Amino acid sequence: MTFTRTLDALIVGGGVAGLWTLNQLASKGYDCLLVEQDKLGQGQTIMSQGILHGGVKYAFGIHVKPDFLKELNAMPERWRQHLSGERKPDLRETKVLSDSFYLWASQGQDLGTYATRFTLWALSRLQLLQVSPYSTTDFPAWLQASAVYKMNEPVLDTKSLLSSLAKPHASSIVYGSCVRQDHGVVTVEEKISKETFPVQPKCILLTAGHGNQALAQLMGIGEQLAQERPLRQVLARGNLPLFYGHCMDNAAVTGKPSMTITSHYDLSGHVVWNIGGTLAENTDEPLQQRAERLFRKTLPGLDLGRVTWSTYHAIRSEPKTKDGHIPETATIRKYGNVFVCWPTKLVLAPLLADRIEQEVSQMGIQPSGRCLVRSEAIDIARAPWE
Ligand SMILES: Cc1cc2nc3c(=O)[nH]c(=O)nc-3n(C[C@H](O)[C@H](O)[C@H](O)COP(=O)(O)OP(=O)(O)OC[C@H]3O[C@@H](n4cnc5c(N)ncnc54)[C@H](O)[C@@H]3O)c2cc1C
Repeated sequence: MTFTRTLDALIVGGGVAGLWTLNQLASKGYDCLLVEQDKLGQGQTIMSQGILHGGVKYAFGIHVKPDFLKELNAMPERWRQHLSGERKPDLRETKVLSDSFYLWASQGQDLGTYATRFTLWALSRLQLLQVSPYSTTDFPAWLQASAVYKMNEPVLDTKSLLSSLAKPHASSIVYGSCVRQDHGVVTVEEKISKETFPVQPKCILLTAGHGNQALAQLMGIGEQLAQERPLRQVLARGNLPLFYGHCMDNAAVTGKPSMTITSHYDLSGHVVWNIGGTLAENTDEPLQQRAERLFRKTLPGLDLGRVTWSTYHAIRSEPKTKDGHIPETATIRKYGNVFVCWPTKLVLAPLLADRIEQEVSQMGIQPSGRCLVRSEAIDIARAPWE
């Protein structure tokens, strides 16, 4: 007869949300097991641009709630505490691609109205935004913008983030799948060995991104809980400088950046620009043409002669909202001892883990201090630009 192991928490899904939660709960002595069906971060985390938003870009949105901006405003500092090792999880091994982020409006946008409107909105909504106008000598000559701001928002390499979060708890991660049985028992099947073993978790935390909806259904939750936003990110290669910035042309109308650019490296060490923003949301027009047109307008000083373009598909998985809008904060939906969890943004993963810990403790689950020892391998997904 197989021995059924009790667990404090079974975490299903090993993206940033599941791994951060594993770190947080394990550091408090909870006995946790994380089950990842594929590779760590395989859904959204590895595709993410890695920006630790402090709320500035959202200050343009007309419907954005001040509480949400305040919440985001605290996040870059919170992450810095982890990145410096001052706070657990210790992220000193996570690569910081940039310490700050540009926000620019191209020439032809009305600088006076634009900057005043932005500053007033931002200040009234956030009180203390760390935004400072750049002097023209501070930014590259090819960025011939009419307004440039620098924001105190770091950008991370998400692959090294996943590794920093997984390494200390590799022995609590299993690659495989799980099926809920009767009487609160869950059978875990390891992917490679096909070995199965039963566990009896006091709570089940679904942090599986796109997988949340199907998993919730398997757990007997019939409701539509998730919404998805398909994106087509653009990748540009070819002797490009390192650059991190939001183009805010028309943002006062749309509430969003027209382009969000981050720089990453492919496997041969070449810089690849990853471009999101409204460009990635509009999938009708051929993307290369649209990207080139936007680049010529908003970055006229950049030589596009040797730039080659490609795209990759991504899906943002978020909790369903009544109006279909993008949800603002980290969300947990509770069904008995099953929690369906979404950070909604990578930057909010610490907040989600705080809330999960609070809920677990409110359920009366005491840390039992044991640790389930399994395989030590860490298998991280490959980024599209690699
Ligand atoms: C293109 C893009 C750019 C983004 N840029 C930013 C940004 O700059 N800043 C920011 O804050 N946010 C950004 N985001 C959002 C951010 O990436 C996500 O909110 C965050 O990564 C979600 O993390 P997660 O752990 O919930 O989900 P995921 O990263 O999707 O991880 C879910 C994990 O669960 C696993 N899984 C799925 N089903 C099962 C199952 N049945 N059993 C076991 N495991 C399962 C998957 O394999 C995966 O590893 C971006 C998103 C995208 C798509």
